[in-house]
Amino acid sequence: MKDIINSLIDSLFIKNYLFWIILILGLISCFFYKEILGFIGEKRVKRILKKLPRKEYYVLNNVLLKNNNITHQIDHIIFSKYGIFVIETKQYNGYIKGNEYDKKWISNNKYYINNPIHQNYGHIKCLSEILRMSKDRFISIICISGSSSLNIKTNTQVIRSNELLNTILSYNKSYIYNPKELYEKIKNLNITDINSRNKHVINTRKRVKQIEKRNINKCPLCGGDLILRKGKYSKFYGCSNYPKCRYTKK
Ligand SMILES: [Zn+2]
Repeated sequence: MKDIINSLIDSLFIKNYLFWIILILGLISCFFYKEILGFIGEKRVKRILKKLPRKEYYVLNNVLLKNNNITHQIDHIIFSKYGIFVIETKQYNGYIKGNEYDKKWISNNKYYINNPIHQNYGHIKCLSEILRMSKDRFISIICISGSSSLNIKTNTQVIRSNELLNTILSYNKSYIYNPKELYEKIKNLNITDINSRNKHVINTRKRVKQIEKRNINKCPLCGGDLILRKGKYSKFYGCSNYPKCRYTKK
C-alpha cells in the first residue's frame, strides 16, 4: 500500500510538470483574480473597437496622461468627427444598483463600488483640459462585461460590451473637424514608460486609501455625516440625511 501511495505521489507531484504549472497558474489567478478579469475585459473591448471603420475612427487603448500633476489611466479613447468617445471598462458580476449621481453603487445589496461614471468624468475633464475643448464634445461610455444584472438610472451610456459597436455608430452628427490631429496629440502625450506606469498604479492605491481614511465618518452613498443612533437592539451608525438616504453601518 505504502509503495502505491509513494509511486502515486511521485508520478503526480514531482515528475508531473503539468501539475506544478497548473498549481502555480491557479494560485496566480486566485491572487490576481480582479486584475485578470479586468485585463480580459479590456482585451475584449480592444478587439471590438478594431471593427470600427479605420478612416473615420482613431482608437487609442490604455492611455496614461498627466494633467495638473495627477496621472489618469484611460481604458479606451476613440476620436471621430462624431465626438470623442471615452470608455471605461468594468467587470461586474451579480446585481448592481445605482444612479448617475450616487457616489457609490451597490453590488448584491451588500458591497459598495465606486460609481464608474464619476471616474470617467474625471478622465473627460482631463482630456478636455489637455485638448482645450468643451466637455460636451466627449461621450462617456461605461462598458460592462461579466454576468451582472444592472439596475442603473442614468443618462450616461452604461452598456454591455456586445452593444458597444452599435452605440458608437449611433452617433452620426458630425461636429469635430480634426479628429486625427487630436488623436495624434494624445498619442504623443501618452506615457508609455513602464516605470511611470507602475508609479501611477502605486499612487492611485495610495490616493484611494487616503480618501477612504478621510471619509471614514462619511456616508459612502451621499457624503452625509454618519451619526451614532440607538436601534431597538443595538447601536448603529446611520446617515444624517435619513430618510432621504437609508445607509447604515454596524
Ligand atoms: Zn447617506
